[in-house]
Amino acid sequence: MELIKNFPMDQLTSLGVGGPADFLCKPKSVAEIQAALNYAREHQLPVTIVGYGSNLLVTDKGIRGLVIQLAEHFAQAHVVGAKIRATAGCLLSSLSKLAAHHSLTGLEFAVGIPGSLGGAIYMNAGAYGGEIGPLIEEITWVTADEVGVWRKADFNYGYRHSRVQTDRVIVAEAVVQLKPGNKDEILKAMKELQARRIAHQPLDQPSAGSTFKRPPGHYVGSMIEAANLKGYQIGGAQVSTKHAGFIVNTGSATAQDVLELIAHIQKTIKAKFDVDLQPELQIVGEK
Ligand SMILES: Cc1cc2nc3c(=O)[nH]c(=O)nc-3n(C[C@H](O)[C@H](O)[C@H](O)COP(=O)(O)OP(=O)(O)OC[C@H]3O[C@@H](n4cnc5c(N)ncnc54)[C@H](O)[C@@H]3O)c2cc1C
Repeated sequence: MELIKNFPMDQLTSLGVGGPADFLCKPKSVAEIQAALNYAREHQLPVTIVGYGSNLLVTDKGIRGLVIQLAEHFAQAHVVGAKIRATAGCLLSSLSKLAAHHSLTGLEFAVGIPGSLGGAIYMNAGAYGGEIGPLIEEITWVTADEVGVWRKADFNYGYRHSRVQTDRVIVAEAVVQLKPGNKDEILKAMKELQARRIAHQPLDQPSAGSTFKRPPGHYVGSMIEAANLKGYQIGGAQVSTKHAGFIVNTGSATAQDVLELIAHIQKTIKAKFDVDLQPELQIVGEK
């Protein structure tokens, strides 16, 4: 298995910021994941798991130790009846299209989410009233010494939360349970949801999606807009002028710019609305 030294993480994240990872590897099998984990243990390297980096803010100093990426080299999917068995690096949007191709309904919401199945399960990703958690029938997970399976009842999930976060396992594969549906209706729903995204989200600029989790009873974008922060900029990081819930990289942003902008938004929203905003994007790397 190849180890790439000093890999620039800004190239691996949709936000396009962050310093280098000491080592990056891209396993192609469960055995290779375990080999990487054992190598890290032997050499006392901390381990960070990533998918497509679409929900990541990597600090400017970068990531010490080993980054394991499950993405395009870990992307096989098979349809069996109304189920899709897929490895963790499958793009969620590709699975949504695969489901539609087989007239299976349930994954329409995921067509515009730019991450991997593994990242989506970790985050319990969701959009437009749908989320991945309720569709997951089985998860195959990996640690350095074990390969295990969680059934539906074992996979505790909540809003942008899943057991993967607390148990710190690597998702290798999952079974997504869908329902037979009408292909034309499925495709129509996907098209409509995609059009809503294009209309409301800054998809032409680098971002990590929604910056903050939605606090109960509030809409983050509306609060940030009401606080006059739409378009507010620190260095190259800007509160999107299209959707205030997104921070975009205008071209020259550093991770520090993004972190300072996050802190400024949190402080302003706390003062104006007495609401604590929690980042949805995952902040990783040396501080
Ligand atoms: C334009 C845009 C729109 C977005 N819209 C949405 C949306 O509508 N809804 C939504 O929920 N999100 C959205 N996101 C955020 C993001 O796409 C999702 O959170 C996605 O599920 C992350 O997947 P990833 O592969 O990119 O994960 P990464 O960003 O690489 O990682 C995210 C987290 O998952 C962990 N992880 C990744 N793979 C694994 C694995 N195999 N095993 C264990 N842990 C793993 C990582 O350690 C990290 O903590 C959007 C992002 C962008 C840029």
